[in-house]
Amino acid sequence: MPIVERSLVEVDRTEALELEGIDVSGDWNTFLRSRVVQDLDLKVADWVKGQPQGETISRCWQCGTCTAGCCLHTDFGLEEFNPRYFIYLAQIGYEEELRRYAQTVWRCVSCNKCVERCPKGVKVEEVIHTIGSYLTLTGAAPESPADRFDRAYTENLLRRGVLDEPDLFRTYERLEGRRTPAGELLRMGLKLLGSGRLHTGPLAHRTRGWRRMGAVLREALTEDERRRREGLAPSPPPPGGPP
Ligand code: SF4
Ligand code: SF4
Repeated sequence: MPIVERSLVEVDRTEALELEGIDVSGDWNTFLRSRVVQDLDLKVADWVKGQPQGETISRCWQCGTCTAGCCLHTDFGLEEFNPRYFIYLAQIGYEEELRRYAQTVWRCVSCNKCVERCPKGVKVEEVIHTIGSYLTLTGAAPESPADRFDRAYTENLLRRGVLDEPDLFRTYERLEGRRTPAGELLRMGLKLLGSGRLHTGPLAHRTRGWRRMGAVLREALTEDERRRREGLAPSPPPPGGPP
């Protein structure tokens, strides 16, 4: 487990000490202060295991191969992004500590190197995203722009069964609470028209028989959302925010 709390590290410093003419002053011992964590709660692990994308979490034996190969952790030097540690915190139910990484977990770029390397067949990338969903659903992390785009995209697709780019753009803008200037919209519209991708209003495509299919998909998504939220209670706000 990496030392993420400097306050827990106790350095035994020996000042001005000379032994047989050799200066041996300095830091000789490093200790971790003892602490007692009392609020472990296995509901995180249970919830993650109960999701189709998170069920492999219990196979993890904490070897750290995923973190050693993770491009964010190694190539981009984002030390706090540590998939092994996120899994560990979820496994032992240390939710308070896990919530400190509520934003960080979403930085996973889904390269799947961790999945390729894991000797225990843990679907690390899926597990990390499931842990992220848990944190978002319990209110530990605010909804990200990517989440809002996801919502706009799904809503747009459900309407007609095909994507309507201008409509997707409008929905996303509404969710983000921003407005693109009219001149820029016109420029973009003309570009889309020129590339034959302006399928909106009277030009809109529609998948045949979509009304029934769309209703089935909507019902399935609603049921999935209901199931995911089952047994989840909102968390109190994180004490110190992200690390
Ligand atoms: S490589 Fe697999 S088993 Fe090893 S720590 Fe990562 S998830 Fe766990
Ligand atoms: S999928 Fe995510 S966790 Fe896995 S190696 Fe890539 S960035 Fe790291």
